[in-house]
Amino acid sequence: MKTLLDEESIRQVVEQVIRALPKNGTPPAPAIQSSSAGSSCGCGGACSSRSNALGVFEDADEACAAAHDAYLQLKEKGVEARSKVVEIVKTLCTKNAKEWGIYEFEETKIGRLEHKIEKLEIVKLVPGVEWLRPDARSGDHGITMEEYTPFGVVGAITPVTHSVPTLSGNIINIVAAGNSVVFNPHPGGAKSAAKAIRVYNEAIERETGIKNLVCCVEKPSLESFNSICQNEHVRLMAITGGPAVVEAAMKSGKRSICAGPGNPPVLVDVSANIAKAAQDIIAGGAYDNNLLCIGEKQVFVVESVFDRFIREFEKAGAARMNDAQLERLTGEVFTYKQDGGGCSHPVLNRELVGMDAAKIAQRAGLSVAANTPMIYAITDAENPFVVEEQMMPVMPIVKVRDVHEGVRLAKLSEHNYKHSAMIHSHDVNSMTEMARALDCTVFVKNGPSVAGLGLGGEGYLSYSIATTTGEGITTPSTFTRKRRCVMVDNLRIY
Ligand code: NAD
Repeated sequence: MKTLLDEESIRQVVEQVIRALPKNGTPPAPAIQSSSAGSSCGCGGACSSRSNALGVFEDADEACAAAHDAYLQLKEKGVEARSKVVEIVKTLCTKNAKEWGIYEFEETKIGRLEHKIEKLEIVKLVPGVEWLRPDARSGDHGITMEEYTPFGVVGAITPVTHSVPTLSGNIINIVAAGNSVVFNPHPGGAKSAAKAIRVYNEAIERETGIKNLVCCVEKPSLESFNSICQNEHVRLMAITGGPAVVEAAMKSGKRSICAGPGNPPVLVDVSANIAKAAQDIIAGGAYDNNLLCIGEKQVFVVESVFDRFIREFEKAGAARMNDAQLERLTGEVFTYKQDGGGCSHPVLNRELVGMDAAKIAQRAGLSVAANTPMIYAITDAENPFVVEEQMMPVMPIVKVRDVHEGVRLAKLSEHNYKHSAMIHSHDVNSMTEMARALDCTVFVKNGPSVAGLGLGGEGYLSYSIATTTGEGITTPSTFTRKRRCVMVDNLRIY
């Protein structure tokens, strides 16, 4: 991935953003939030606060009601308005990428700044209204059209790993399909989400006349999540996050599209271009300090090329931890908790998630250059760094006898999430064996994981890959109802 900014421009924008950040942890005042002032319609002020909120609400039910009003307005204004909203989101996301990237970096304190910015700049690769094409049938009994129509209000949950990128990509998909949306962002990225939402709504209202098309809860909580799930206006949930939120959504009773957790393995076989494999694994696995759900998380290398791979991996920038350092880091990253059945299982220390490799190395007692993209250790397949989705630029490398053992262990490490996997190989048998065994939503051959989202590979982008519920990389059609319109014995033109 290329670095897009010079140091001076980053410094200037950092200064601006820091000046604008809230002091002493106090959230910025909502843009305009009045509860009752000027109300004359008997609603107790709800209309007034809704009309001035720019999409950011204290109360989840109020956000859902405002989003429902907006959905009805969008319905009236048609596809032209949807296209305009998509254009607004893409333009503003690109224009504000530096400022918002820095703000999100300051708020979440995870990942790499240049990648935070780049993830916003590439939101323009998310498909919009052009994606929706009706299906038609024509025959002796007339014609039938199947159209992709909106649900209404969509409730959406976003992760702390990519707050504004996921939010912006979701808006494009969801509004292109004719819906409005209410977000319950991760509390750790909620200020960034609210900041972008205010800017989007201000432009949407100015350009289309629609207020609060994109809403969020200002201080999201489990209660606000439950309120959104239970709200009568919300017809569909779009979930992006780990196992707990996916489970909660599936139990909510609302239909949910779940972009759930992953733990993507990589297999390197004897036929691979070893130097390129090493470089690709660092390009994908070190991206934003391994915060991407598709990012390489553990590597299995066939023994006959193992030593060569390790040499190339170090040449590409990875620094090795010895066994003692690995053990020390394991103690920092994982604690062990008894489950109900008496087994102990590792619990991740979130403090190290998305941290720079050099800082993590220090915790291991290893000193490396500040710009080291990744540290690694040679481990067995049961090591917690292999088994757990740890989201750190720390790569466990496992030696395997052959491709068959590599595929078997890769599958175990992926936990049947069916999320993402990578192979470096020029043997179609190895590729096919791994593809069939892991049954993943994204399977990248001979490239970094990010190529699976259209960055260096063919295809389009979304930050929500619906793995658990099977819709795949989300697009506008993911957020539609399919409806059939039939003309009997007529309108066929020959
Ligand atoms: P997280 O699961 O901690 O949080 C995700 C969202 O769910 C947040 O908004 C959080 O507030 C909410 N949440 C968490 N537990 C909840 C519960 N019990 N009830 C209601 N809401 C709850 O995850 P994170 O650290 O923000 O993001 C990383 C995780 O998300 C990883 O597991 C990663 O693989 C996954 N992810 C998946 C995709 C995908 O496209 N499949 C994309 C990005 C991230």
